[in-house]
Amino acid sequence: MRYISTRGGMAPLPFCETVLMGLAPDGGLLLPERYPRIDRATLDAWRQLGYAELAFEIIRLFADDIPADDLKGIVARAYRAETFGSEAIAPIKRLHDGLAILELSNGPTLAFKDMAMQFLGQLFEYVLEKRGETLNILGATSGDTGSAAEYAMRGKRGIQVFMLSPDGKMSAFQRAQMYSLQDENIHNIAIQGMFDDCQDIVKAVQNDHAFKAKHKIGTVNSINWARVVAQVVYYFHGYFRATASNDERVSFCVPSGNFGNVCAGHVARQMGLPIERLIVATNENDVLDEFFRTGRYAPRGSERTYVTSSPSMDISKASNFERFVFDLVGRDGAEVKRLWAEVDAGGGFQLDADAMGRVRDAFGFVSGKSAHADRIATIRQVDAEDGVVVDTHTADGIKAARELRREGETVVCLETALPAKFAETIREALDRDPPRPAGFEALESLPQRVVTLPADAGKVKALIEKTLG
Ligand SMILES: *Cc1c(COP(=O)(O)O)cnc(C)c1O
Repeated sequence: MRYISTRGGMAPLPFCETVLMGLAPDGGLLLPERYPRIDRATLDAWRQLGYAELAFEIIRLFADDIPADDLKGIVARAYRAETFGSEAIAPIKRLHDGLAILELSNGPTLAFKDMAMQFLGQLFEYVLEKRGETLNILGATSGDTGSAAEYAMRGKRGIQVFMLSPDGKMSAFQRAQMYSLQDENIHNIAIQGMFDDCQDIVKAVQNDHAFKAKHKIGTVNSINWARVVAQVVYYFHGYFRATASNDERVSFCVPSGNFGNVCAGHVARQMGLPIERLIVATNENDVLDEFFRTGRYAPRGSERTYVTSSPSMDISKASNFERFVFDLVGRDGAEVKRLWAEVDAGGGFQLDADAMGRVRDAFGFVSGKSAHADRIATIRQVDAEDGVVVDTHTADGIKAARELRREGETVVCLETALPAKFAETIREALDRDPPRPAGFEALESLPQRVVTLPADAGKVKALIEKTLG
């Protein structure tokens, strides 16, 4: 399997060559030359597999340049019961009205990003060792991504992580989660400023090409193809657990921001998994909902991006969306390049009724939207009717699923985080604290390891240089 760019300007590369790349050299995103098709006999055989075995079977189709035994080891180390709290890794629970919740948030940072990031940590270590290289990851986080990356990369040979976070701006729980890591290769840097300042510093360091090359600076952003592939696995797993046979069809409802999660659902559907519909759920930042309703894709700037109570979806530029549009326009790289020239110039594009018909009928996409009051009402409703406390993002999904669900349709809602991470909103809804999973009881009282710096790229570079010796 070889990989191409959504903008058509890259010679095909094997999987391992793409793992450490961010964007393709032409600014596009990487995708496989074609999606493998899964026949009925294979689907029947896969139904019997445990999570890690299933992950091996699916990922090997995309990563066919990794020897089978090596990939088995990578996947077995990534998806262990000790890491995800149960042998099932991603169990399903049912609400009283039949809605299924696929639990993707039982990993070390209590959010679905662990599902892909744990695999990425093992994969990076493997690829770096094969090539005799090292990597220094520099990132900025306002919460979920940074902690998932740190927990995936902790203790990995050949990898150092420098993670910038806004000093005093994250919740006590989020701070404790990151700063309590004592691993020598994890470096928490609290920046005296906002999240945007952290991001500007990362950009400034990335743009210092000499520094970047000398210190082998890389990232773990959400456009990494290996993350998408790892997420494809739980759509198959969720389908098998939510159905009794491969004759059935299911729909998935996905709380979305960067379109990475639901993009994996799209790939699973293209591979032949019997998915009826993919329901994209957004919060008040509804750029994606606008597209699926009107055909207009118009990313917004930070001045029009709202701070909400489902903060991990406060995104107005869905970076993985380009992958879906590439498939939608018949994999015409020149057309994607034309559309994103408009996006990159600060505008957007409008697709016609014909294209939007295909979005709905051929690709199965629909969307829904949720706001703060809906979120609070859904959290209350699910608690009262089912005795289950859901987090704010998952609540956005449940709201959209209940609104759009058809008679007799099996809908699986993806749980993207646990409520313990968003205690303030849970208290607003339920007047009590969310449950804490075992092992997190005393998180905030653990010793913390963090260096505070002013919002100054030069100071961050000096710290990196000093640390790497
Ligand atoms: C990252 C995240 C999302 C959005 O996922 P995308 O892949 O960016 O669409 C939703 N919910 C939670 C809790 C997240 O951390």
